[in-house]
Amino acid sequence: MMNKFHLPIAGGPVRVAIAICGLSLLSAAVTAQTAPPAATAEAPAEVRYLPLEQLRSFYKLMPRQSSEPGVRCVGNAGTTLVLGPGRRELNIGGYRWQLSYPLKDDGKGDWLISEVDMVKLIDPVLRPTYIAERRLVRTVVIDPGHGGYDTGIDSAFVHEADFTMQLAYTLRELLVKRGFAVVLTHEQNRHLSDQQRIECANGADAAIFISLHLNSGRSDIQGIETYTAVPDSPGIPRRPANKHDAASAALAFALHSSMVNATGAHDGACRRARFSLLNSIECPAVLALVGYATHKEEGTRLATPEYREQLATAIADGVSNFAVVINPDAVLEPTPELPPEPVATPEPVAAPEPAPQPAKADAKPKNKTGRKKGSSKKPRDNKRRRNRR
Ligand SMILES: [Zn+2]
Repeated sequence: MMNKFHLPIAGGPVRVAIAICGLSLLSAAVTAQTAPPAATAEAPAEVRYLPLEQLRSFYKLMPRQSSEPGVRCVGNAGTTLVLGPGRRELNIGGYRWQLSYPLKDDGKGDWLISEVDMVKLIDPVLRPTYIAERRLVRTVVIDPGHGGYDTGIDSAFVHEADFTMQLAYTLRELLVKRGFAVVLTHEQNRHLSDQQRIECANGADAAIFISLHLNSGRSDIQGIETYTAVPDSPGIPRRPANKHDAASAALAFALHSSMVNATGAHDGACRRARFSLLNSIECPAVLALVGYATHKEEGTRLATPEYREQLATAIADGVSNFAVVINPDAVLEPTPELPPEPVATPEPVAAPEPAPQPAKADAKPKNKTGRKKGSSKKPRDNKRRRNRR
């Protein structure tokens, strides 16, 4: 039973035009949001940074030993944060996240982390009861990502439209048994436009939205990747972001960690991208790419009813956990202070890297388990480990 939360990622101010299994991403400036409590239309579009020491102090995290080069590790009895290796990698509680902006040196031996990642990723993960827009979850809108003439990915092992339709049916059954109202964006393998999916989600009462997909890429890439929309960006005109981005991040974590933990699949990380679908939905919204159809072992596994059932149960568990934590009646943790004020960085802000392209993304783990050293994640059984790339 998972009871801890952890959060997602964002892209940077870079022009991107990529597609994931046929889903279009907006081609526009992508910037992660500098954050509450006082972001205004006049707020600078620059990235602001916080010293890692300030984060550690605020959340009462103690330094932890790490033997891995380029890694900083802090934690307490309930949570471990591993920053690095690499400047965009964050691991919370054993699960991988892509940072919106790379970590920076402060020139004095400490690291700096962007305010966006602090407020839109770490804080909702560590303190989900402080998410401003949290509300009861009554309805789960399940979106089988393809249908009709749009078959999605057809690999030698599994067909995306058929798979996501069957997964949606199984998930619906499980969620109804748990007391949720469930809406499928379509049944009978029918094609829908993004606008129809958006209208379906926005017409539901107190909903969350989960779009189900498979991934494709090189034959050696496998794993689960979970996406949310890039947060809003002051100063850059573009389509508004999803207004529930903090809750979306918490939802992404709940689903991602549950799926990775239950299946033993490779952790392909929580990520952000500018899916027009997710940006336009007026509730917490996540796009789950639950495996690579193009990987021989994973594709073959995905095609089995047993694995589909396992995935559906893991997603339902994630929904249940999210619904508990996001409940407005949940007791606030005794941490009344706001996150610390950011500090200006001395040098010009470097443009973050482009949004990831999952089909080509390098999700190679640092060790054969894909886990960072120092992770608090429970070890998996050997049978599952063999399924890794
Ligand atoms: Zn798809």
